[in-house]
Amino acid sequence: MDALFGKTLSELKEITATLGMPSFTTQQIAKWLYQSNISSIDQMSNLSKKHREALSQNYTFGLTPFMKVQESVDGTKKYLFNIGNQRFIETAMIPDQDRQTVCVSSQVGCKMGCLFCMTARQGFQANLTAGQILNQFRSIAEWPNITNLVYMGMGEPLDNLNEVLKSLEILTADWGYALSPKRITVSTIGIVPGLKAFLEKSNCHLAVSMHTPFDAERRNLMPVEQVYSLKQVLEVIKGFDFGLQRRVSFEYIMFDGVNDTPAHVNELARILNGVKCRINLIRFHPIPDSPLKGSPITVIQQFKDALNRKGITTTVRASRGEDIFAACGLLSTKELVKRQELDY
Ligand code: SF4
Repeated sequence: MDALFGKTLSELKEITATLGMPSFTTQQIAKWLYQSNISSIDQMSNLSKKHREALSQNYTFGLTPFMKVQESVDGTKKYLFNIGNQRFIETAMIPDQDRQTVCVSSQVGCKMGCLFCMTARQGFQANLTAGQILNQFRSIAEWPNITNLVYMGMGEPLDNLNEVLKSLEILTADWGYALSPKRITVSTIGIVPGLKAFLEKSNCHLAVSMHTPFDAERRNLMPVEQVYSLKQVLEVIKGFDFGLQRRVSFEYIMFDGVNDTPAHVNELARILNGVKCRINLIRFHPIPDSPLKGSPITVIQQFKDALNRKGITTTVRASRGEDIFAACGLLSTKELVKRQELDY
């Protein structure tokens, strides 16, 4: 049966109209779905019994509890969800002083094949629905104290554009969770048509995974460069008015001897000239059988200082959850599926 959770207001309107329910019930249902703690249609107490029955005969409420949670020594948690058909997704929850950030997955696996990523090795299994994306925020223990969301888990969000946009609409709409778009960041490797649509249809922050300013090097690290180049991505960004509130950042994983030289600093300064942005440097978490190694922390600091001297705001992202494989680029459920670890 189809789920109500994850439907937009216009989809709910269609549902109530089809079931012959009064139009005001649409808002009531949205409120139950996104502004309450209930988890069943039966608990929608201001709907008549007849209407609740009509809904229950055609739809489930649609929340899925997590299967397992692991906690890192630094407080980061990794949640596992079973979305059916032997498919699993992981969600990271990263506590900070005044923030609780949830890092959601948008796909089961990924088809983008980035050389440095564990999810890439799993291949692509499925797109998540808006409901499955939002369930990762709604069904974890920290709900409803989550302050920020980042779409940086498994998958490429803009390769699942419609469902991601629907989830963003529900997160930010008054009838939904009414979260400020400033609290949400969508990270992409730069799928150009999806990027344009995301910029036009949402007000959320953008993070672009760059990892090197040089075309040939990027083609090697990220096959997407062959189809949508960084040059094209930057053209889109330079041509878009981000206003005062909306932020663009570039993610840059530091690989020892690959992308951490003074030539990279100079080229970054050249291609980002005139772009109001920041760069987040990320320490590489080694993955098995990969020739790539992380840059030493001293090199990362020098790289950061050199970029800051060039006028590009650059920070080093603190590494979180490494011991439970929840850190950036480490999410993968491939082994789990292979071993059928369903005993929890
Ligand atoms: S880094 Fe992101 S886009 Fe690239 S393979 Fe991994 S999940 Fe996919």
